[in-house]
Amino acid sequence: MNDRFGRTISYLRLSLTERCTLKCAYCRAGEGICPKKGELTREEFLRIVRAFATIGVKKVRLTGGEPMLRRDLLSIIAGIRAIPEIEEITMTTNGQHLPNQSRALREAGLNRLNISVDSLKPERYAAITGGGSLSRVLTGIEEAYAAGFDSLKINVVLLRGQNDDETGDFIALTKDRNLSVRFIEYMPLGETDQADLRVTGAELLQKHPELVPVAPSYIGQPARDYRIPGSIGRVGMIDPVSHRFCADCNRMRVMSDGMLRPCLGSNEEFSLKEALAQEGDEALLAVIAEAIARKPETHCFDEGFSTEKNMSQIGG
Ligand code: SAM
Repeated sequence: MNDRFGRTISYLRLSLTERCTLKCAYCRAGEGICPKKGELTREEFLRIVRAFATIGVKKVRLTGGEPMLRRDLLSIIAGIRAIPEIEEITMTTNGQHLPNQSRALREAGLNRLNISVDSLKPERYAAITGGGSLSRVLTGIEEAYAAGFDSLKINVVLLRGQNDDETGDFIALTKDRNLSVRFIEYMPLGETDQADLRVTGAELLQKHPELVPVAPSYIGQPARDYRIPGSIGRVGMIDPVSHRFCADCNRMRVMSDGMLRPCLGSNEEFSLKEALAQEGDEALLAVIAEAIARKPETHCFDEGFSTEKNMSQIGG
């Protein structure tokens, strides 16, 4: 299905839970990690994916909060895998629960994995994440690499003065391995924008002139890709604030409370709960069509706008 700006919606992001193991300072500082009532069930998520599949969605990302906190995660993945129209299932995780799980995730049908790591220094990692263990993430990354996912990406949110001195160490990870390191610009989500934390893609390129541009891995990818000559892996830049890529946005987001959000950078949401309570998918498809029709042309992050919800609520 196309929106009113001619963009074809083919990618659905499911925030399986708002709960998270970590409390990253820029994402959900100060929030508790208590279980939240009213999360969509596995069956509700699968019904939503099936409905989106009928209107052209081919790719699903599982995120959160921390998706690996869902006890029914493998069964959700297997359920999505059984929907013929869905060609690709991906997941974004903080890696804290990844050790010993990669094979099971792969076997359930997960194709691609993104792992968030904001520092390669154990104490700094713990400080940024509010107590996370770097060694668990690194073990998870090793195992995920061995499990042979179709792609493995490391996400790094660059924070000025906190981890921007580590870009060279992250880039070095791509030298001998077929993995991507993607530097993400800090976005104004949730509380007031801490714009002084933001390191732009342009700044990064200035610091690393050795990066040479390479063709994107797939059409519509948010990252601009680079490579160090002779390296196997890629370095990506995702800089939505300083470099909008809304014209290619093909995504819709469903949050764990049953709200459907057409744009990360707009507060407008549509409830799927009432439609889910009805038999048949007519009402569900009607809400989906309305939300797609209302998808904004672009976000307004660069005009001082910040969202009411943070990334762990919306689903990163
Ligand atoms: N818990 C999982 C994880 O940590 O990867 C999935 C959810 S997390 C919200 C998804 C991604 O969003 C992470 O890479 C996180 O660093 C990023 N993120 C959160 N808040 C952000 C912000 N304000 N700007 C840019 N990225 C953000």
